[in-house]
Amino acid sequence: MIQDPDPSKVIDWSERFADISRPLEIEVGSGKGRFITTLAERYPEKNFVALELQTTAAGIILRTKLEKKLDNLQIMRADAADIDAFFAVNSADKIYLNFSDPWPKSRHEKRRLTYKSFLQKYQTVLKDNGLLEFKTDNSGLFAYSLKSLNNFGMQFDFVSVDLHHEADEIVEQNIETEYEHKFASKGNPIYALHAKFQT
Ligand code: SAM
Repeated sequence: MIQDPDPSKVIDWSERFADISRPLEIEVGSGKGRFITTLAERYPEKNFVALELQTTAAGIILRTKLEKKLDNLQIMRADAADIDAFFAVNSADKIYLNFSDPWPKSRHEKRRLTYKSFLQKYQTVLKDNGLLEFKTDNSGLFAYSLKSLNNFGMQFDFVSVDLHHEADEIVEQNIETEYEHKFASKGNPIYALHAKFQT
């Protein structure tokens, strides 16, 4: 696990992944890692990074990585506010934001992971045509994020206000996160979007 990396240095990912030429996908705020460890298991031909602020949660992801021998998954205990310091420009194919903390008070807007300063950093890290995928159960955060991404000039490839009742192939492809499982079990709709930055 990479703990508290120095934001003044870009990480040399070629030292950590067996094949750096594979597609790179990053989850921001992975929690206990159900989503990213399932992805890493399902797609051994891709590289994955779990970026998580909390040490305990990052440790749980590490345990799963070791148990399942997921060599294509790296875990960073770090703040997403520094994401553009840890990854080279145009290096990632996808960034996932799953059930990000909603920070409902307007004075905390800058902490939302879909605030424009975060979008700017995701744009730097993502390749041209790279995708931002976002899921939440929180209608307020979803509405805010639609507006924020739209104001940033992003193009939407997919928007759902009830992901779990979309067409079969979409539902079958979906990988549930811990929060998603909890909220969907209560019957809450899951909101989702996929968007690209304009090049
Ligand atoms: N994605 C998981 C899921 O869907 O089950 C966890 C969702 S939980 C509500 C949000 C997670 O994002 C927490 O684990 C939190 O520590 C992490 N987080 C919040 N802000 C972050 C930041 N700036 N950088 C990295 N992780 C962050």
